[in-house]
Amino acid sequence: MFRLKRFGRTGSLMMNRQKSFESHRPTLYLVPTPIGNRQEMTERALKILESVDCIAAEDTRNTRTLLQMYGIHTPLISHHEHNQAQSIQQITDRLAQGQSLAVVSDAGYPLISDPGQNLVRRILEQGYPVVSVSGANAALNALVASGLDCHHYVFYGFLDHKSSHRKKELERLATIPFTMIFYEAPHRIEATLKDILEVLGDRNMCLARELTKVHEEYLRGTVSEILEVAASCKGEMVIVIEGAVKKEDPDMDQLAQKVLKYAETMRLKDAAAQVSKEYNVSKNQLYQMALQQKDN
Ligand code: SAM
Repeated sequence: MFRLKRFGRTGSLMMNRQKSFESHRPTLYLVPTPIGNRQEMTERALKILESVDCIAAEDTRNTRTLLQMYGIHTPLISHHEHNQAQSIQQITDRLAQGQSLAVVSDAGYPLISDPGQNLVRRILEQGYPVVSVSGANAALNALVASGLDCHHYVFYGFLDHKSSHRKKELERLATIPFTMIFYEAPHRIEATLKDILEVLGDRNMCLARELTKVHEEYLRGTVSEILEVAASCKGEMVIVIEGAVKKEDPDMDQLAQKVLKYAETMRLKDAAAQVSKEYNVSKNQLYQMALQQKDN
């Protein structure tokens, strides 16, 4: 798991054209592994894991168990958040010696809320090819079955653990009109959904849990509906949530009526100010329209 948040640009990438299947240079392969269902290991991924000189794994014990299932005996080295300074050096040394390597995380794609980001940048800076292999990814599995718009979407990964920080992050996302995807741990799901309800409102969402495993479940509904059962939801989960829906332009005639209704208990000017604040429309225009309606 990799939780370091990076915002903004990460520096310039050197112009480079890589023809992956024409290169005979030592290569770094990014190989996804199953997110639960062990059958979701592709033939190509297995061939690459078998043929490389070494596999850099987030957790060598987990990866060894996976490799044993397929009779693969490629040597493993460890590459995770806390040893990356040394492991990146080790990997670049091996590439310099002419070796090709694969990088894997515990589940899904390396780099996607998992280690590998700094490694890939360093290897590209050194001019070696970096090749990705297709495979499992929890975010996309959840998105395509969510029932929400898949034309445009934002993958956010994990929100902050602290509610106050999390709400700030959500505030920055509140106006984005695209479907949003978050990863979350089961012990935080209730608190996170409460913050989502407070900041983003009661939107449509899907909670996809235990994807590809025997207890796989999709909970589709509004945030408040899912919140009612969230505390009982266990396992790994992905939140997919509707993007901001553009508010219709308010009907000014109806708002002027509302001003007149409010004006039964307050001054017309105050009533116009009140409705203008509620609907974020011009106070003067409302006042004039209410006056006209009153006179008719
Ligand atoms: N690299 C992975 C990927 O490509 O999806 C993500 C790794 S991230 C450390 C782990 C998070 O992914 C979990 O907390 C959960 O939010 C999500 N996840 C992973 N496997 C999942 C599954 N089988 N079902 C639902 N969510 C899953």
